[in-house]
Amino acid sequence: MPELPEVETFKRYLDSTSLHQRIVGVQVRDAYVLKRISARELARRLKGRRLESSHRHGKHLFVRAGDQLWLRLHFGMTASLEYLNRDEVAPKTARVIFCFADNCRLAFDDQRKFGEIELIENVDEFLQTRGLGPDALGISLSQFKAILGKHRGALKAILLNQELIAGIGNLYADEILFRARMHPVTEVARLSDNDLQGLFRATRYVLQRAIALKTDFNCLPKSWLLTHRGRAGRCPRCGDGLKSETIGGRTSWFCAYCQKRSS
Ligand SMILES: [Zn+2]
Repeated sequence: MPELPEVETFKRYLDSTSLHQRIVGVQVRDAYVLKRISARELARRLKGRRLESSHRHGKHLFVRAGDQLWLRLHFGMTASLEYLNRDEVAPKTARVIFCFADNCRLAFDDQRKFGEIELIENVDEFLQTRGLGPDALGISLSQFKAILGKHRGALKAILLNQELIAGIGNLYADEILFRARMHPVTEVARLSDNDLQGLFRATRYVLQRAIALKTDFNCLPKSWLLTHRGRAGRCPRCGDGLKSETIGGRTSWFCAYCQKRSS
């Protein structure tokens, strides 16, 4: 499921392929991913415009297409972007295709159709209405401490709560906790100032490193939990078998030896 690093990678991909070209049409192959707009209306409002710039917040990507006109993309479970040259065939699961004046296209590919495409007028207003917290890579240490200091509950659930901090999902939350050597059910109120600082550093490191590697799982360091998580997985640090537990409705993987549960 695309989390902050994947969406940042899509943003950079879109910026490097699709900005500043005139949109001549929008093909909607499956309107299921459109939110609060019809296929006809989407095409009508974008035709003749250019994608001018983009902005990411958490797992949302906003692409400016004019004054008070932003295309909002959310990648759900399986969505991604694919830029197609003139003669390239769009993937079968491309749901919406933006066609440019030079005959190249940008496809919103989404096998499971949990993705979302919408036109909005104002990004800040959208973030407020959704109640989204600040972006995980946009906050300072003092903001991070203030947010976590105000809440109680299992650390993993706090990291996943998009209303507190936006962008961290299940996989990277596990990775951050593994790096910080904290058990996912650790009560956040028990963390010391030092712990919070370590957690903040781990958060930035994991997200930034994943972005730098373009979130290519084959390139992620072997010292990361992500490349080992699963039933037969062993901890890359101590060699113990990894454990899993359902926390906040999501399956967490961790090493019970390296990430001790505090009593
Ligand atoms: Zn271990």
